[in-house]
Amino acid sequence: LSSLSIEDQEDLQYPYAMRDLPPVIHSAEKSQKQDHHEMEEALTAANGRLPGYPRTPPSSCPVSCPPASSPTVPPRPNHTGRDSSQILPLKRQLVSQVSLDSPLSPALRPRSPWGLLDPYDSPEDQDKEYVGFATLPNQVHRKTVKKGFTFTLMVAGETGLGKSTLINSLFLTDLYKDRKVLNAEERISQTVDIIKHTIGIEEKGVKLRLSIIDTPGFGDAVNNTASWKHVEDYIDQQFEQYFRDESGLNRKNIQDNRVHCLLYFISPFGHGPRPIDVECMKALHEKVNIIPLLAKADSLTQAEVCSKKLKIREEIKQFGINIYQFPECDSDEDEDFQRQEQILKDSIPFAVIGSNIQVESKGRKFRGRSYPWGVVEVENPIHSDFLLLRNMLVRTHMQDLKDVTRENHYENYRAQCIQSMTRMMVQERKRSLREKYREGSEVDFPLPLAAVDTDMERQIFEKDEELRKMQEVLERIQEQMQQSQSGSC
Ligand code: GDP
Repeated sequence: LSSLSIEDQEDLQYPYAMRDLPPVIHSAEKSQKQDHHEMEEALTAANGRLPGYPRTPPSSCPVSCPPASSPTVPPRPNHTGRDSSQILPLKRQLVSQVSLDSPLSPALRPRSPWGLLDPYDSPEDQDKEYVGFATLPNQVHRKTVKKGFTFTLMVAGETGLGKSTLINSLFLTDLYKDRKVLNAEERISQTVDIIKHTIGIEEKGVKLRLSIIDTPGFGDAVNNTASWKHVEDYIDQQFEQYFRDESGLNRKNIQDNRVHCLLYFISPFGHGPRPIDVECMKALHEKVNIIPLLAKADSLTQAEVCSKKLKIREEIKQFGINIYQFPECDSDEDEDFQRQEQILKDSIPFAVIGSNIQVESKGRKFRGRSYPWGVVEVENPIHSDFLLLRNMLVRTHMQDLKDVTRENHYENYRAQCIQSMTRMMVQERKRSLREKYREGSEVDFPLPLAAVDTDMERQIFEKDEELRKMQEVLERIQEQMQQSQSGSC
């Protein structure tokens, strides 16, 4: 144990692992208190570090990075890439440290490998003692960042409302390069297609697999009755696939393709939502988080935007459509956050503008639309709610959209699935029991009442129960009669 000193060359490759550990305590003669004091002094002299070592590990290679030539790692490798003979002394050292100073005093506390995100790093915390579990969120953060994120966004609304342009503007991509726009004749008989585009985006080391589900042809045919059926079926299919995967054997690597959000585009040219919009939203609101958008807001005056928003909100309420509800703020949430949330709630439906091109005006370049009378800026909050939508979708509510999908929409689907599966099983069992019954063989009524959930089934069950009881009574009477007959003989 003592042979592993802090100066070992090899340890320099693992700056974090060793640097944060205090020197090994050898001497039993010195009191623990004295040792403790000396160590604190030594560490304080070097800004809480051992001499010659920087305060935090280099961000490009945190402790978990194995050296380039590290051997093949076992399924759950240790974090330093060392073999067990090297890691053991380290562990012992740490354990001896913990047993002496638990809970660790600030100067001796091993530094968190998260550098700037170290929850104990703030100056006011320097004099406090901690066990260390405030790093738990960091551990979760690190794991989830490694795993990456997925998000599935669906867009629906009539052709030409600017869906593809808005998606490109939102995610700064060009997803629709190869899109073929159909002419009027082709659209007469067109059915709704479902097209999925998946892109991987990375920002500051965080990876997002973003899937955009497009619904070309939606509302385009002459007869649009139930044209949202395809959309509904698609959402159900993704739930079904997830349900199957979840019930299968390999549950570890399930791909989540459930639709987390539907951006529903409403035309700026009508008087509020069209009947197809209302019917579609009504059909889908229990299955997906709907966010209504007022498309092409630059074609409306400010007063028109306000009156159309009002009309859309009224009709949504009148028809009992449950669009995505922003979570209620906790009362202890800071004022700024509460205000932001209120602005979001009041802005529904978001009035949006999209553009695929950059325009230049007054020496500035930005995504916008240039008209003879001026330019509109996509990201200007005075011109549209685009920024509000993007912030809400990506920065503040992406996880909540996923949570609501999982906890509400998918749970509903799952409960319905389980109910109908149980009902089918009960019916099948009853049918086979009845067959057995007719054949006069032994039966094992009653069936569990909890599994029967329709009135008809309950009535059948109760009748069956009555029959069974009557039969039991009959058998008992017969037995008694036989006994009394044999007694009298
Ligand atoms: P999609 O069929 O719904 O995907 O619509 P597109 O994104 O292909 O847009 C159809 C047309 O509307 C194109 O000519 C776009 O340049 C234009 N467009 C897109 N977004 C806007 C917008 O916010 N305002 C205006 N005025 N036109 C837009």
